[in-house]
Amino acid sequence: LWDRISNKLQEEVPASRFDAWISPVFASETENTLTLTVASRFFLDGLKNSYGARIAALVNEFASADITICYAVDQTLTGQSDRKDDIPAEPKASLVDGFIDPRFTFENFVVGSGNEFCHAASLAVAEKPGEIYNPLYLYGGVGLGKTHLINAVANSLISRNHYRIAYRTGERFTNELIQAIRNGSTDQFRNQYRQVDVLIIDDIQFIAGKDRTQEEFFHTFNALYEVKKQIILTSDRSPRDLVNLMERLRSRFNWGLVADIQPPDLETRLAILSSKAELAGVQLDREVANLLASRITNNVRELEGALTRLTAHSTLTGRTIDIAFARHVLRDLLHEEVRAISVEDIQKQVAAYYNINVREMASAKRSRTVAFPRHVAMYASKELTTLSLPEIGSRFGGKDHTTILYAVRKIAKMREDDEDFDEEMNRILAQLKR
Ligand code: ADP
Ligand code: MG
Repeated sequence: LWDRISNKLQEEVPASRFDAWISPVFASETENTLTLTVASRFFLDGLKNSYGARIAALVNEFASADITICYAVDQTLTGQSDRKDDIPAEPKASLVDGFIDPRFTFENFVVGSGNEFCHAASLAVAEKPGEIYNPLYLYGGVGLGKTHLINAVANSLISRNHYRIAYRTGERFTNELIQAIRNGSTDQFRNQYRQVDVLIIDDIQFIAGKDRTQEEFFHTFNALYEVKKQIILTSDRSPRDLVNLMERLRSRFNWGLVADIQPPDLETRLAILSSKAELAGVQLDREVANLLASRITNNVRELEGALTRLTAHSTLTGRTIDIAFARHVLRDLLHEEVRAISVEDIQKQVAAYYNINVREMASAKRSRTVAFPRHVAMYASKELTTLSLPEIGSRFGGKDHTTILYAVRKIAKMREDDEDFDEEMNRILAQLKR
């Protein structure tokens, strides 16, 4: 039976896919069962996802009686691939678990100031996964290309070799774990991640403050790290600034390479625009490009969004994209007033940043976990609003103006003494101003 099914599949499926997925299957048959054995759980999932339905249909078509299909994993089957060592290995399909965006490639990534370090690190990891920088930890503000880069690593691996890749966002990883706990299937959850060559988690900051998820990730990390499997993480901030992260994880995040990505300079923004315009097949004159690149400065996604909007408006109205048209279509983006920010907004955002409850902002608690974010919020309120110290104090649960002054001086002093913190504070203020 399996011979007939496999012959049929050989006609239907591209040769490379057939060699990768169908040939390695070991089949055994009894009167009413067909058992398909493969070398790993990971392979099994891939086989079932891609060909399970088709195999079932063919069994129905070819078998005279009712046949049950059983799937089995036998890890000794992996031995086969080792024996082929001296024969030039045929390129086999990579196995991907998770969505990798095919548009995010190294070819489509413009290298320039701000991102060249992350780009070089990503290239190096794509070249030799598990060998040089492990883990690779990329961090920086939103819309600067982190997700693009890690997808580029995955795409590069997919195109070259037989890698098992798992790609998740921190959020999805967390949700899957919760689901697994609910279903009593945590073993399965664990195993799916321990059989990969490359584990990529985008926005790992999401697991901060979630103890069970961190615990689980910690064990996965160790299991993979020990056998030199590549781990790639992104985050909106450095390991040091990840509040409510287990120390054991924080130190591990620093074991490999930590690279930060900064907003691109004008020249790079222009290059990115021209590359995106080319990809979209639109003409962008120099004046319009300059307008966008000079006004939209610290988020590539917004730059891209502006271009998309221009293109859409131009297609729909049939007008060419000139400077007047651009100014009109993007008026809200380009003439954005500096929005007045309230102390409440500041408290909310700073609390979220440091993972504390916003109510702690006005509380009297003095533990460092809440006092420090509170001081940052007080400082930001002084910097970004026109309120007086007593007015600010009243919004922090009726604190005395000397308390506010103390906080403002303390943070100012910390900024002077600590360059990293200064940078961090700049980022926080920039975020608040948006
Ligand atoms: P992040 O994950 O850092 O928030 P993304 O990787 O999602 O940012 O990038 C946002 C958008 O900007 C994506 O569409 C991405 O392709 C684009 N982008 C960012 N940096 C670059 C770059 N250097 N070259 C080309 N496109 C870029
Ligand atoms: Mg991202």
